[in-house]
Amino acid sequence: MSKKTPLAVRGTQDIFGAEAEAFAFVVETFERVRRLYRFRRAEFPVIERTEVFARSLGETTDVVSKEMYSFEDRGGEQLTLRPEFTAGIARAFLTNGWQQHAPLKVATHGPLFRYERPQKGRYRQFHQIDAEIIGAAEPQADVELLAMADQLLRELGIAGVTLHLNTLGDAASREAWRAGLVDHFGAVKGDLSEESQERLEKNPLRILDSKDPRDRAFLADAPRIDDYLSDEARGFFEAVTSGLDAAGVKWVRAESLVRGLDYYRHTAFEFIPDEGSAAAQALGSQSTVLGGGRYDGLMESLGGPATPAVGWAAGIERLAMLVGERGDTKADAVIVVENDDRLADAVGLLGKLRSAGFSAELVASGSPRKRFDKAKRIDAHALVSFTVTEEGSPLRVMGDGSERHTAVDSLVLTGS
Ligand code: ATP
Ligand code: MG
Repeated sequence: MSKKTPLAVRGTQDIFGAEAEAFAFVVETFERVRRLYRFRRAEFPVIERTEVFARSLGETTDVVSKEMYSFEDRGGEQLTLRPEFTAGIARAFLTNGWQQHAPLKVATHGPLFRYERPQKGRYRQFHQIDAEIIGAAEPQADVELLAMADQLLRELGIAGVTLHLNTLGDAASREAWRAGLVDHFGAVKGDLSEESQERLEKNPLRILDSKDPRDRAFLADAPRIDDYLSDEARGFFEAVTSGLDAAGVKWVRAESLVRGLDYYRHTAFEFIPDEGSAAAQALGSQSTVLGGGRYDGLMESLGGPATPAVGWAAGIERLAMLVGERGDTKADAVIVVENDDRLADAVGLLGKLRSAGFSAELVASGSPRKRFDKAKRIDAHALVSFTVTEEGSPLRVMGDGSERHTAVDSLVLTGS
């Protein structure tokens, strides 16, 4: 048997210490905010049948064609580790007959898997928080979902990140725009990057967010979605933007924001760090923290009835990078046993403190004479030391800076 320790899988992370605290802070804040907006909590499987993603996202998307972890299980089923939440949630909505709950506001979080080139802010196993409103056709649903995202970022203390907003129109507007783009870029096909020449066939909208200078030369005069919008689609977008203004959510129009997946209709958006901001510096080139949009056509592509819906997802690791260092929190009390005869008293007090809602830690191992110094090194509001033997004997209690002596019985637990 080999003695070598196995390595972690490329693109996975073991998250610990301050980073794990930041991660937990993101999830806890999300849980609090989703309750304010009355989103219901749900859990979904990490594995789904491959067709759930292939049919929802579109065969030609990067995710389906290059990034999925797919395998055949021992029973011969074609399965995939979820690369995103929305398709699996739509599948769950249909298989469980959740139409009765519509409009269903649902929130979840957990790990996702994409075979991508690992780099800062980009992993093969990563985590998202996710919020969806299913069975709501009205623009107010988009507004509510975006207001929630905006409040979440504020409560996380993340500044310098702006909502970039676009509309892709309804199915007809989007098709007409797509045809216009194929004409425009088709005329200069030979001058485009190799990747965009391929996109021209499969996913021409994606050329618009190309970073390649060869493509960028043709972006400025590319056809705009606004020229193709039906009156209805235009009215929908206007209702979303005026709703955002009323809700006090700042946004900028991003005409070339298209998002990668086939299922988007109408509203599409991303929260992106402002150029030169601390957030942009922290994230490097992996800059989108939260993205989503409306996906009115998705349920039908899974064989269900037409069901309008809108949602977003945000990378927890990227958000955690923006909330910065969050050290282990300060304990309310540390209890030290300098005399082993008093261990039972100390354990009793420890239990009382924790039951009363105070965080507390016990130092009762190693050489008794070294324990006090060991306890002093733990960051705590108070230090309680059990020293002498007699019943009712004094305790040494050190609060922030001061030191007093008291009896066990006279300790009063106050505070929050
Ligand atoms: P990107 O353009 O960065 O590849 P995306 O459009 O593929 O992002 P979405 O599918 O919209 O991302 O996922 C929403 C969010 O999930 C992203 O904004 C990002 O915060 C996070 N995310 C996506 N892929 C990864 C990854 N491989 N590692 C870490 N976070 C990720
Ligand atoms: Mg991606």
